[in-house]
Amino acid sequence: MASGNSFYITTPIFYVNDAPHIGHAYTEVAADVVARWHRQAGDDTWSLTGTDEHGEKILRTATANGTTPQKWADKLVTEAWKPLLETIDIQNDDFIRTTEERHESSVQLFLQRLYDDGYIYSGEYEALYCVGCEEFKPQSEIVNGTGPFEGQKVCAIHSKPLELLKEKNYFFRMSDFTERLLALYEERPDFVQPESARNEVIQFVRQGLSDLSISRSSFDWGVKVPWDDSHVVYVWFDALLNYITAVGYGQDEANFDRRWPATHIVGKDILRFHAVIWPAMLMAAGLEVPKQIFGHGWLLVGGEKMSKSKLTGIAPTEITDTFGSDAFRYYFLRAIAFGQDGSFSWEDLSARYQAELANGFGNLASRVVAMVTKYFDGVVPAPAEYTDVDLAIQEVVKKAADDADSSIDALAIHDALASIWTIVDELNGYITDSEPWALAKDPANAARLGTVLYTAVDGLRALAVLLSPVLPQATHKLWDALGAAEALGALVDQPIRDAGRFGQLPAGSTVSALQALFPRIEPAVA
Ligand SMILES: [Zn+2]
Repeated sequence: MASGNSFYITTPIFYVNDAPHIGHAYTEVAADVVARWHRQAGDDTWSLTGTDEHGEKILRTATANGTTPQKWADKLVTEAWKPLLETIDIQNDDFIRTTEERHESSVQLFLQRLYDDGYIYSGEYEALYCVGCEEFKPQSEIVNGTGPFEGQKVCAIHSKPLELLKEKNYFFRMSDFTERLLALYEERPDFVQPESARNEVIQFVRQGLSDLSISRSSFDWGVKVPWDDSHVVYVWFDALLNYITAVGYGQDEANFDRRWPATHIVGKDILRFHAVIWPAMLMAAGLEVPKQIFGHGWLLVGGEKMSKSKLTGIAPTEITDTFGSDAFRYYFLRAIAFGQDGSFSWEDLSARYQAELANGFGNLASRVVAMVTKYFDGVVPAPAEYTDVDLAIQEVVKKAADDADSSIDALAIHDALASIWTIVDELNGYITDSEPWALAKDPANAARLGTVLYTAVDGLRALAVLLSPVLPQATHKLWDALGAAEALGALVDQPIRDAGRFGQLPAGSTVSALQALFPRIEPAVA
């Protein structure tokens, strides 16, 4: 394993002051599924997540809670963010915190390099600033206040009054990069995806870029500007750098060369930071730009974007406590086209759990294992001659595996799941049509019965491999019940791009009892 191409994928780092909600979990799960897929394909995979811990707002909250910002961040990482990753079964390779020494020292190195090369200058800045966004707001995001804020300018996102700030700042010459960025979007259409996100970014950059204020001197909770320690680095400039500091920028060049560039999965609300500022920063430093920036859509609950400030935040544990982490992972990736907005509802979650996971996949697995147990004493029969219907199933499995791999490459995770699910649906139909329970009544049909059940069992083998990135718990149970661990080795070691090759599970393997993969849930709970 891990001898293939480098594949490095990141999520945005969590803003440590937030409360985890299903929007955070959605991004994490998507990146995790793609990472697990590549890992299981033998690619040299690295997945990164972490926390963004600097900035004025964190300082203010910590002070209000009678503690230091570092202790405040430590507490939130331990009590909120790392537990979130466990709740939804994330297998990240690294977790970076922007207050770690490895990050801070490399941020300083990066900044010094840009300063030495003339990309940073000092100037005076006066503009309307939103403490919630931690940024000076562009005209397009400044609106007139209403209600208690009548007559004031407020942030379009936070609906709270903006502060007029004037200070000496260091500026990054981002305006130098307008043409180079436009050329990049043109030459590499995949650089920003999906298409709607790409178009929005191009529109924005075509208007011309302003230089970016990248330091603050009104508070000190941040990375110190190396040549002027009365300033700290603007929190976004600091945060974006996590993607390279975590893989060794400035400290371990061999590892940096091995991992970088990355695929960044981000919510579309922070697309501009990633698709405009970030590549400009990298160009200034003479580094490669990211492989791709993919902006996924918003989760809507009752038509509103999921966030704590809108009071629609749902804690992931509210879902996993009832349905389990596998169902959480499956539901959001199956129900919502990745890249588009999607609505969450308990009714839809419940319905898909029942129809697709419990009745579709779970029931298929239990029926097949039960029939092998009943008709062949638990020993997987050898197939006799394949008929057209058996060969058709083999073809379905092969096509589903190939299509799913292409879809994962394109980050069309919903399409990958839809392809894999054709195996579930076709196998269920195959068993209904082949009627193994009828074949079992006449010993003269033993060879045919063996072929049907072998076909079904090896189809389950393929499903376990293909679904293990999405449903790690259920597929491990299934793998054990099929006796596949003994015959083929650990599930995570099965090369996923080879999963569609029929007939890998040897006849003679022994199946064992399979508990319900997706137990019935009493309707009262949801
Ligand atoms: Zn704001």
